[in-house]
Amino acid sequence: MSRIAYVNGQYVPYAQAGVHVEDRGFQFADGVYEVVAVKDGGFVDLEGHLVRLERSLDELRIDRPMSRAALSVVLAETVRRNRVRNGSVYLQITRGAARREFPFPDGVAPTFVAIARHLDWAKGAANAARGVAAITHPDIRWGRCDIKTVGLLPAALAKQAAKESGAYEAWLVDDQGFVTEGSSSNAWIVTKDNVLVTRKPTHEILSGITRSAVLELAKREGLKVEFRPFTVAEAQAAKEAFVSSATSFVIPVVTLDGKPIGNGGPGVVVARLRSLYEAHAATHSTDWQAPFLAS
Ligand code: PMP
Repeated sequence: MSRIAYVNGQYVPYAQAGVHVEDRGFQFADGVYEVVAVKDGGFVDLEGHLVRLERSLDELRIDRPMSRAALSVVLAETVRRNRVRNGSVYLQITRGAARREFPFPDGVAPTFVAIARHLDWAKGAANAARGVAAITHPDIRWGRCDIKTVGLLPAALAKQAAKESGAYEAWLVDDQGFVTEGSSSNAWIVTKDNVLVTRKPTHEILSGITRSAVLELAKREGLKVEFRPFTVAEAQAAKEAFVSSATSFVIPVVTLDGKPIGNGGPGVVVARLRSLYEAHAATHSTDWQAPFLAS
């Protein structure tokens, strides 16, 4: 079966799925995106992703191509036409196509594309059972990492470095030696006293939708959370560590730059958070409101 993409109002076969050569997403990375997990035929945390999408668009003053409800229909239809029951849907909205000038063009409609792909959740579960390796990498991104833009070159460089080291993720480190987040995930540690530590969602990190859900689940579980930066050394000396993202859910990090974290294997706190998140994902709740920049 050939794959189908949604491109500016039409569902088209991949071979015909293109945008204009002067699209601002292509020339300036002037666009935003979201990735929503599809689990057993339902979206995971859809509402949170759509709320964040609107925030990203508003921050960059890109017009919303359609209402949140209409957008949900497009995503569902893209998933349906590609017969994806387990996987993810990717959507991208750019400021549109216009003659190449740096300032925003007038009267140009945004470009909106969506694609869906299959994903084997069993692979994620196997990673979670084993735990994964992470390396550190300098955080060379811009000053508005809270906006989910398609300007992903620093993230791609970091992920490539991780791949070349045989690691799953790169933890980005700021000029003061603090971990900001993963190249495509949020970074967490668990202290010896079972306190979760993760950064405040400032402009330095993306406020992950999975992160927000995990925070809520941890709160219900009675776990303490500290919102503060942590250093590489603190992470290496932590009891447990993990990453969260829409397509990873919750995955334990068991080595950082080759140094074992805790006993070098997945720990009980992270295993519990993953199972709580899996149960949450199975509810396909769409009423999740991410508390952006709040906690
Ligand atoms: N930080 C970065 C830089 C990311 O790219 C992602 C994944 N999109 C995340 C965090 C996790 O966000 P989410 O839980 O919404 O997937």
